[in-house]
Amino acid sequence: MSLAIIYSRANIGVIAPLVTVEVHIQNGMPALNIVGLPETAVKESKDRVRSALMNSEFEFPIRRITVNLAPADLPKEGGRFDLPIALGILAASGQIPHEKLNQHEFSGELALSGELRPVKSILPIVLGAHKAERCLIIPSANSHEAALVKNANVISAQHLLEVCAYLHGEKKLPACVLHSHLPVNINILDIAEVYGQRHAKRALEVAAAGYHSLLLIGPPGTGKTMLANRLPSLLPPLTEEIALEVAAIASISSSGFHPKHWQQLPFRSPHHSSSSVALVGGGRPPRPGEISLAHHGVLFLDELPEFSRQVLECLREPLESGHITISRAAYQSVFPAKFQLVAAMNPCPCGFLGSHKGNCRCTQEQIQRYIAKLSGPLLDRIDMQVEVPSLPGETLASIAVMEEETSAVVRERVLRAREKQFNRQKKLNKELEVSELQEFCYLEENSKSLLNQAMQKFNLSARVYHRILKIARTIADLADSDAIHEQHISEVLSYRCLDRNRVI
Ligand SMILES: [Zn+2]
Repeated sequence: MSLAIIYSRANIGVIAPLVTVEVHIQNGMPALNIVGLPETAVKESKDRVRSALMNSEFEFPIRRITVNLAPADLPKEGGRFDLPIALGILAASGQIPHEKLNQHEFSGELALSGELRPVKSILPIVLGAHKAERCLIIPSANSHEAALVKNANVISAQHLLEVCAYLHGEKKLPACVLHSHLPVNINILDIAEVYGQRHAKRALEVAAAGYHSLLLIGPPGTGKTMLANRLPSLLPPLTEEIALEVAAIASISSSGFHPKHWQQLPFRSPHHSSSSVALVGGGRPPRPGEISLAHHGVLFLDELPEFSRQVLECLREPLESGHITISRAAYQSVFPAKFQLVAAMNPCPCGFLGSHKGNCRCTQEQIQRYIAKLSGPLLDRIDMQVEVPSLPGETLASIAVMEEETSAVVRERVLRAREKQFNRQKKLNKELEVSELQEFCYLEENSKSLLNQAMQKFNLSARVYHRILKIARTIADLADSDAIHEQHISEVLSYRCLDRNRVI
């Protein structure tokens, strides 16, 4: 038979759709043609495949060879089709048996010597093959990453000859196993290292418990970044299933996945000069941006007003929907992007408003203009705005002697409050729909009248009202209280400092 069919996989976003590599050998002018919209890298694979076959002492058929990568409209990149193409040529020319081919999938780049080189984005490929219940054969260098998918049938080889020996039934290939026991959620930053700042720490705890977004406002050096860096230490560790989702996104990113990050809660802090492509994803082929790399973790935007307005506007869609759609001419890529947003900013352009360290000479107008740099719609989506004041030296010294609570202690409370939420409504408070608020965030008379007063005084919108209800629910949950009391409402109001400023 001069026709062979081999299975492999492409990548679109975090999914790896099946690609059928068809190889047909016929009489005619000797040539090797690859069709099915291959990009430059696939065209180059012609030369690699030819050299690899000849250097492995196979016969390269001096006939007309047509390779079709189907479906044709799927974008294909990288050298990962080298191995399937080489095997297709060998099968179609009768140099290896066909029997086992349809129960296997192949992915791997070939060196000119016939050795197998690792491919990028292996995790989605492993997940795809696992779902299709086929055995996947990959380069040995990819095996540690592939081993993260438990129970998947994946074997690895170092050389094209080993794969051929396996298909001939002459050799067994090793299954992928984790080379060592991977450490789980190593977050060494502890909240106890932040001295003082009780109010901001408490706000961080509330944010962690209810999945609320948070903006920290304060002069430089007051510990805003330290606080944000420690949010992951207050959150529950990732389950294996979620860790795999996180690893799959890292796997398709330009920097790839590192096993040392396995089950570590993502914490991303892009610089304010980042482009919108770097932040939300894009490029050719589309790669996930910072917001997707922060999936199931924390996205920290320091110096929020310094980000370009256009970049910040791009955050609106993922903040609502939990994913981002990137459209290219022929196809769309959807990347998951469900993250907890923490932002920080100075109180004024010079940064020293209300600080003990420097004198602020900013005018009221300059300050207003600075805050107005954040668009209303974005600010509307940030649940809590908390001041992180600068502390005079002597206060810090007196606090330093006192015991600070560790992350482990705070996390216990956070986990209990989260459990309460899941038992009551099967989701976190932040994720409550407006229609559910009446049932789950019912207010007592006193609480209601306090909130109504604040609404009038600060001229708050209905959207803000709903936000306050959800945060109050979280504070009540932390206190293990079924009812939302007055003190819960007044605590929420202390986390809305920009509302108060707006009135000034
Ligand atoms: Zn200033």
